[in-house]
Amino acid sequence: MLEVLLYGALLFYNKNKSLHTMKKLVFATNNPHKIKEVQAMLPQDIQLVSLEAIGCQEEIPETADTIEDNAILKAKYIKDNYGYDVFADDTGLEIEALNNEPGVRSARYAGEHKNSLENMQLVLQKMKKQTNRKARFKTIFALYIGKKLHLFEGIVQGFISQNPKGENGFGYDPIFIPNGYEQTFAEISCQEKNTISHRAKATQQLVTFLKQF
Ligand code: IMP
Repeated sequence: MLEVLLYGALLFYNKNKSLHTMKKLVFATNNPHKIKEVQAMLPQDIQLVSLEAIGCQEEIPETADTIEDNAILKAKYIKDNYGYDVFADDTGLEIEALNNEPGVRSARYAGEHKNSLENMQLVLQKMKKQTNRKARFKTIFALYIGKKLHLFEGIVQGFISQNPKGENGFGYDPIFIPNGYEQTFAEISCQEKNTISHRAKATQQLVTFLKQF
C-alpha cells in the first residue's frame, strides 16, 4: 500500500509539479466502462488512473495463449516501461459447446479490428444449432506492486442467449445471461452487474488484498 501511496504522490507531482498525497493506481486500460465498474467497488481513497493519463498511447501486446498470461503481459509492460505499480485485466468468454472459445481470443474473435458487434454475431452463428448454451466469463487481474506479481480470478457462470438484448454494458453483454437471471448482462443495470460479474469477483479479491497490504 505504501508503494501505491508513493506512486500516487509521484504521479500527481509529475503532472502538476506539486506534491499531493492522493492514492492512485494504474489500471492498464482505456475502457471507461471497465474503469467505472472497478472504481465503483474500490475504497473511495483509491483512484484509478487510465493508460491515457500516464501518457501510454501505444497498443500493449496481448499475444499470450492464455487469459492469465495476457493479463501478466499487459501489467508487466506498464511496469517495465513506465515504472508504476499497476494492475491489468484480461477477460474471456468461454463457451462449453465451442471448446471454450472465444476464450483468450474474445476481443479479436471476428478479426483484428476488435468489433464487438461482429464478435457477438460470430458467436451466435456458431451457436445456432447448439442446445448446450453454457458459458462463463473469466477475468484475471495481474497486479504488480514493486516487483511482486499477484493474480486474482473472477468467474461468472451463465449461458448464451438466442438473440442480443439490452443496451447497457459492452462487449458480449447483450448475449450473456448469468445463472439465476432471465435478462442479459446488457439488460440489467451497471450496479447490479457489479454485484455478480466476473470482474466484480476479481475486483473484490483485489480490494481485499489492497486493504491488507
Ligand atoms: P479484454 O480482456 O478486456 O480485452 O476483453 C476481451 C473481450 O471480452 C473484449 O471483446 C471485451 O469486449 C469482452 N469483455 C470483457 N469484459 C466483458 C464484460 O464484462 N462483458 C462483456 N464482454 C466483455
